[in-house]
Amino acid sequence: MIDAKNAVYFKKINKYDYSLIRPAFFEMMGTIGSLKIAANDTVLIKPNFLTHAKPEQAVVTHPLIVKVAVEYVLEMGGRPRISDSPASGSVKKIMKAGGFDEALKGLDVEIAEFEDYVKVDVGEPFGEIEIARDAMETDHIINLPKFKTHVMMLMTLGVKNLFGCIVGLKKPAWHLKTGVDGDYFARLLVKIYAAVNPTVTIIDGILGMEGQGPGKSGVPRQIGVLIGSQNSVCADIGACRMVRMRPESLFTTKAAIEMGLALSEIDVRGEFFEIDGYKMPIRWSPSGGPAFIQRFTRRHLTQRPVVDPEACKLCGDCWTYCPAKAIEKKDDSLVFDYDKCIRCYCCIEVCHHAALKGVEPVFGKLINRLTKPKHA
Ligand code: SF4
Ligand code: SF4
Repeated sequence: MIDAKNAVYFKKINKYDYSLIRPAFFEMMGTIGSLKIAANDTVLIKPNFLTHAKPEQAVVTHPLIVKVAVEYVLEMGGRPRISDSPASGSVKKIMKAGGFDEALKGLDVEIAEFEDYVKVDVGEPFGEIEIARDAMETDHIINLPKFKTHVMMLMTLGVKNLFGCIVGLKKPAWHLKTGVDGDYFARLLVKIYAAVNPTVTIIDGILGMEGQGPGKSGVPRQIGVLIGSQNSVCADIGACRMVRMRPESLFTTKAAIEMGLALSEIDVRGEFFEIDGYKMPIRWSPSGGPAFIQRFTRRHLTQRPVVDPEACKLCGDCWTYCPAKAIEKKDDSLVFDYDKCIRCYCCIEVCHHAALKGVEPVFGKLINRLTKPKHA
C-alpha cells in the first residue's frame, strides 16, 4: 500500500544559492502539503545544530535552508522559532560560527536553546522520557536534518535529528541507559520521533557528509539534493535509496517498520537519483549474544575512540559529555577506560577539533577484511 504519507520528494540542487533554494523549498512544502499554518500558529524549526561549525564542514544544517524555512513560516502567517539542544557548545555560538546570525538578519524569528522539558510516557521499555517543552507544545514542527553518516547509527537523518529534542545532558544519560545496542537505541529514537511528531521533514543533502560522521571527523560530500516528506522515516528511506543502502539496514528505519510507523516502500516523486561510492562508516555491532561474547566483541572487534594528542586542545567537551564517564584527563593527555566505554562515539561527535577517531583493534581489522560490513 502506498499513499501520500509515503510520498518522498527529491529536488536536485547543486549549490547553496538562495535564488535556487527558496523557490525549491516553497514548492516542496506546498506539494507535501502537511504544514497548514493558521494565523499566529507557533512553528518550531528544528535544524541539526550538533556543534559550532562552518557551513562547508557539513556538520550542521545550512543557514540558507533555515532561512527559507523561517521565511516560509512568516509568509504563511505563523510565528517561527528555531531551537535545538546542541551536543557541545551553545545555540548562540552555533548561530555565530555557522553564519546563521548573518543569514537571518532582519527576519522576525525567535531563537532559543531547548532548556525546559516535559516528561512524556512513551511506553515500554523506556517509560518516561524528558522531551523539550518547546517541541511538545508547539503547533507544528519543521524538521531540518542534515544528510550525514553516523559512526554508531550509520546515518543521521530525519528520525535521529529529533534526539536533539532531549535536553542537554539527558542525552548522554539515555545513551548510557540504552548501551551499545544499536537496535535498542533506534527504538528509543523512534519513540522520540513518534512523540515529537514533526509536521514535515526536509533533509539538507546539498552538501552532505560521508565517512566517520556526524561530527568534524566526517568528510563533506557533495550530494546535490533536498529530500522532503511528511513522514521522517520515509524521508530517511529516500536517502538510503540514494546511497544504494537497504532501508532496513538503517537501525532507525528497521525499528520504525517493526513498530508499524512506516512501510519500507516509498512513493518516489521528483528528481530521484543514485550516487556512487558513498562512504559509510565501518561499524561492528557489539549487540546480541551472551554477555561474555558481547564483552569479547566490544574489546577486540569494535572501533574504540582514540585521541590525536597533537589535535586535542584538552577543552573537556568529550569527558563532560561521555555518558559512561570513560574519559579522564591525566596530566596533559586523555586516558580512556575501554571497559567502561559503551562505544556510543558521542565523544567523536562533540569534539570540534576533530581530535578523536574510531580505530579498529587489530583483530577487528582482520575480521573486517574477511567479512563484509553489516550495512552492505
Ligand atoms: S579530544 Fe576533542 S573534545 Fe576531547 S578534550 Fe580533546 S579537543 Fe576537547
Ligand atoms: S568514551 Fe566516547 S565512545 Fe566511549 S562511552 Fe564515552 S563518549 Fe561513548
